[in-house]
Amino acid sequence: MVNEERLVQLFIQLVETDSISGREGKVRDFLKQYFSQRGLQVEEDNAGEILQGSSGNLLVKITGTVDKPPLLFAAHMDTVEPGEGVKAVVGNDRIIRSQGDTVLGADDKSAIAAMLEAVEIIRERQWPHPPLEFLFTVSEEQGLMGSKLFDFTRLQSKIAYVLDDNNDPGTIVIKSPCQNEIEYIVQGQAAHAGMNPEDGVNAIHLAAMALAKMPCGRIDEETTCNFGIIEGGWARNIVAAECRIHGEARSHSREKLNHITNSLQNTFINEIERLGGQAEVKIDLLYPEIALQSEEEVVQRAQRAIRKLGLEPTLAATGGGSDASVINGAGIRCANLGVGMKNVHTTEEYIAIDDLVMDVRLILAIIEESC
Ligand SMILES: [Zn+2]
Repeated sequence: MVNEERLVQLFIQLVETDSISGREGKVRDFLKQYFSQRGLQVEEDNAGEILQGSSGNLLVKITGTVDKPPLLFAAHMDTVEPGEGVKAVVGNDRIIRSQGDTVLGADDKSAIAAMLEAVEIIRERQWPHPPLEFLFTVSEEQGLMGSKLFDFTRLQSKIAYVLDDNNDPGTIVIKSPCQNEIEYIVQGQAAHAGMNPEDGVNAIHLAAMALAKMPCGRIDEETTCNFGIIEGGWARNIVAAECRIHGEARSHSREKLNHITNSLQNTFINEIERLGGQAEVKIDLLYPEIALQSEEEVVQRAQRAIRKLGLEPTLAATGGGSDASVINGAGIRCANLGVGMKNVHTTEEYIAIDDLVMDVRLILAIIEESC
């Protein structure tokens, strides 16, 4: 059913079309042409303008042939560096790699290729399907920037699948954390370090004293926090007037995330103020959690589809965010599916042709289960 040669050719064309985060324009052009040749319209939003990139997010809607609820599939168009001038190499072992000097970009172009091939098969075979929505995002690798700007009220789907997990096909990610970016700022008072240090308030020292009272690392089995960057001070002989710490906290539970964030914030502010400085803590929710129940439809449907392919479904949790996090945050139940890409974000990235084929079959099976 899957035209393997056509699929591999499509995948190679996609990975050999440069689309580093913020510069997805060429892949956007490719997709616009691909869909318009098939009489389908591609809508581009203004995320590109806002992010000063070369493309916005793309939305393609395909009218259903059966009267069932619509279904969304999503993937991201951007890749990480080094990702320009990719040359795909198909090995005798039926594995596709880069030449070793760039990433391959199977993350996430394997998903895009699989979606396009699935669309082709549906059209060729006049396969019955519900209304389908395809979302192709930009700047996912830069903190889900594209999907965060997408207007989800444009979608009808209440169930969605992102294909962007590096486990094998058959894996369904039902849990991933929510994350807060936390910036801690201390204002002290500058003074000469040798002549009148007593007139100063050392922001670096205060920050250190406060940090020593704060937890760091693993908080519990589903919650972590970290301090990643510290900066401050102007010169060796000046009492440091300012210090900034960039940190984060994440948890699979929103309640626990809020709890640890509040506790970090309060401890920091109380300590700094007690020591005579001024403190400020800035908190930004980077992405919400994925918390799907195994018995709910989005998971059940994927499980049925996976079993149909002769695979055993695996329910998984991950430690990071994806477009699926943002889609869930928008009120659409969304699972992230394993596509079989390996060693992503390295020049050793690869994908097996058999997994690419399986990804297409999985999309088709999910569509079939949605009818
Ligand atoms: Zn990805």
